[in-house]
Amino acid sequence: MTEQPHVEIYTKDDCPYCEMAKDLFDAKGIEYETYNVTGDEERFEEMIERTDGRKTAPEVFIDDELVGGYDDTKALDEDGELDEKLGIATADGGVEHRKLVISGSGIAGLTAAIYAARSNNDPLVLEGDEPGGQLTLTTDVENYPGFPEGISGPDLINNMKEQAERFGAEIKNGVIEDVDDSSRPYRVELSNGDVYTADAFIAASGASARTLGIPGEDELMGYGVSTCATCDGAFFRDEEMLVIGGGDAAMEEANFLTKFAEKVYLVHRREEFRAEDYWIDRTHEKVEEGEIEIIKNAEVREIHGSVEEGVDYVDLVRHPEGYPTDKLDDPETEEFEMDVGAVFLAIGHTPNTEYLEDTVVEMDEAGYIQTVGGKGGGQTETGVPGIFGAGDVVDYHYQQAVTAAGMGCKAALDADDYLETAEIEAEEGTTEAATGDD
Ligand code: NDP
Repeated sequence: MTEQPHVEIYTKDDCPYCEMAKDLFDAKGIEYETYNVTGDEERFEEMIERTDGRKTAPEVFIDDELVGGYDDTKALDEDGELDEKLGIATADGGVEHRKLVISGSGIAGLTAAIYAARSNNDPLVLEGDEPGGQLTLTTDVENYPGFPEGISGPDLINNMKEQAERFGAEIKNGVIEDVDDSSRPYRVELSNGDVYTADAFIAASGASARTLGIPGEDELMGYGVSTCATCDGAFFRDEEMLVIGGGDAAMEEANFLTKFAEKVYLVHRREEFRAEDYWIDRTHEKVEEGEIEIIKNAEVREIHGSVEEGVDYVDLVRHPEGYPTDKLDDPETEEFEMDVGAVFLAIGHTPNTEYLEDTVVEMDEAGYIQTVGGKGGGQTETGVPGIFGAGDVVDYHYQQAVTAAGMGCKAALDADDYLETAEIEAEEGTTEAATGDD
């Protein structure tokens, strides 16, 4: 019997990606050692040294070899290489058939799973790139009905998972690479090579954080640039931090970061915020307390720093009428620099629907799935019978936890109607064929 390799994971408190990394190994039945670096300077320094300067958790090692953060571990898993490293790779090319496959284990996918399991549709939930979805990256969810004191995002997701599994839903680690709708049942291919066929399919794979595409951003991602304040904020304690965006997420992150930061700068590209009044008010309270400074009509053009030292400073532009990068030749456009130790991007999300590109499911330019909508049944149907859409892959407007849950529920009910009708038609088809043969 081959011995299991030595898996080590550096973690920290309040770290959703650390939990996801642990879940990934748990799902494979692999044991690991964890080292929590929160408040443990020695471990923190050890982690930085072993990772050549990375200051973000988790950091995963297999047999003393650095795999990297959660994204790196996940990428390795998707290529099937993680299983090879762990000595659990199989040469199984088998195809498993399922009545219903749900892509995504965020709030829409899990709500769909609860309803589908209760309708005996035996759902398989494939967790996707970000197990648990965006709620696992938030702190307190205060507007989800039924929790007067609020509930943490990860707790809400874990409760839903438990609830779905209680009714028989199966939740598996896996990222869908391609869906083939050219014949029935639909073929669902995963990046690790696994293949499922499915009578019905619910796309609930959510959306991922957008980035700016500016110099320095990619190079310093994980070294002071981050799309998740809850995950990485604590690493930059007592530094000045900059948050980019003017929506609820930017305001929530800026408020959260005041716990650690010397000062938080909130940079927004125009005069008006799109965030709800609640967050604007809370942010202004922090401005009055001197913890947040708002910089309007400004955009970051470049992030400077190094992997060794992290973020050093950023170049910005500002124009009194906003959107300054579109007005670089305007004499009113002012260029300036700011010394900050970390940059957090909170500039919205892009739907995760690439795996549907080869299907005839209709999507708009940004990748949002077109569903029937309206008032009657079948609102979550796409143009392809048996394929449904729910949550942030469809909704570019409301994007709330509770609306995603509502759409997940609708998709499961629509899928149930579809599966029942298909079953009846199949039975009638058999009967007719049998009659015809007589
Ligand atoms: P939003 O799309 O609402 O906001 C994105 C922000 O980023 C906007 O202010 C936008 O500017 C700015 N932005 C986009 N692209 C760029 C760019 N290239 N350069 C500079 N700035 C840019 O996304 P959020 O993630 O904030 O929120 C998404 C949804 O989630 C919303 O429906 C929100 O209500 C919800 N949410 C709710 C929370 C809550 O507590 N209730 C917490 C977090 C999110 P501009 O305004 O000019 O377009």
